[in-house]
Amino acid sequence: MTSLKRKLAISAGAIAVTLLLAAVPLLASAASPTPVAPNLQVPIPGLDLAAEMQKTGGDAISTYIAGIYRFLLAIIGVVAGVAIMVGGFTYLTAGGDKSKVDEGKKRIYNALAGMVLAFSSYLLLYVINPDLVNFKSFKIISITPEVYTAEQSVSEDVDAANGNVIPDHYACHTVDDCRTLCAKSKSDWPTATSDMVTPKDVILVTPSQGLENPKGVSVTPPTAAALQQAGTIAVGKDPNYSLKLYSGYRPLDKQIQLVCDKIAAGDAASGDQQTKLLGQVGVSVAWPGGSNHGVGIAVDIQLLKSGTALTSMSYNDQTDPKWKDGSKALDDIMTQAGFRRYAKEQWHYEFGGTSGCRCTSPNCPFPPSCG
Ligand SMILES: [Zn+2]
Repeated sequence: MTSLKRKLAISAGAIAVTLLLAAVPLLASAASPTPVAPNLQVPIPGLDLAAEMQKTGGDAISTYIAGIYRFLLAIIGVVAGVAIMVGGFTYLTAGGDKSKVDEGKKRIYNALAGMVLAFSSYLLLYVINPDLVNFKSFKIISITPEVYTAEQSVSEDVDAANGNVIPDHYACHTVDDCRTLCAKSKSDWPTATSDMVTPKDVILVTPSQGLENPKGVSVTPPTAAALQQAGTIAVGKDPNYSLKLYSGYRPLDKQIQLVCDKIAAGDAASGDQQTKLLGQVGVSVAWPGGSNHGVGIAVDIQLLKSGTALTSMSYNDQTDPKWKDGSKALDDIMTQAGFRRYAKEQWHYEFGGTSGCRCTSPNCPFPPSCG
């Protein structure tokens, strides 16, 4: 390959790469806030980033790359100039030596050809679209923080929402059905639905280092052991950390009672308030039997530091930014101990493994354990 052919090939490649990069869709241009010019540790000669960004309306990264591109073009110009001078000197001092004359000519010719190629590629791109040499495609997309949102439901109900209702898991699954059940005598309520564990399958969680159980919460033995491990992990991260249990195994009659209380409150109200309360059945209170609290693997838990709460226990304020760090810390601790957080509740964790997990849809909040 001759040097000219090589240069042509390189230039064609450079143009192709530039075009390709420029072809990347202009992402999120509408939502981007006013870009701020960073303070360059290694400034590019001749580039005032802030002024250039304002002029082209580009992002810092695209303006920076465009600056490097132009700087390299300038270097090519300088190098070509030097090469022409060297070639000219060789030519002038050849003194009739044919090979030296040829060498000097060749040097000048190559330098000019290289310069023409480099600048014409810039010109060509600029003529096609000035944005191609501004690298506007390199947009920095601003990220919106994702917070755990408040919507009470349990895995099974997510399943139900996807049309995968497993009726034998539920003691009742509509407001009318539940109202009928509530009207019955408690002794006629079912004691368990399919897959639920019974009170003899769970044990009281013994408080241990970093783990408090003031409400006398019970869970299955493996879940209890994992909770104690979580307490140890918490104290290992910070000696002032402690985990406080609020709820664990919930027998079916308790789940039914929660739904009945909500329906009773709704029936006693009127108008919008009634619609609101009845609309919460199966949403802010799980359909009885649908909650993994009935399987003894689910716990509602809070992280504290020297007795001060670091995580929320309420739907109304769990998205408050003040809980962000605590929520992350709790999630780290519980995940390490083998639990998974229910994505919509900052405090609700379920002990991993497939046993006891009754979620079957692909949209289950705990996909890895419910596959
Ligand atoms: Zn819960």
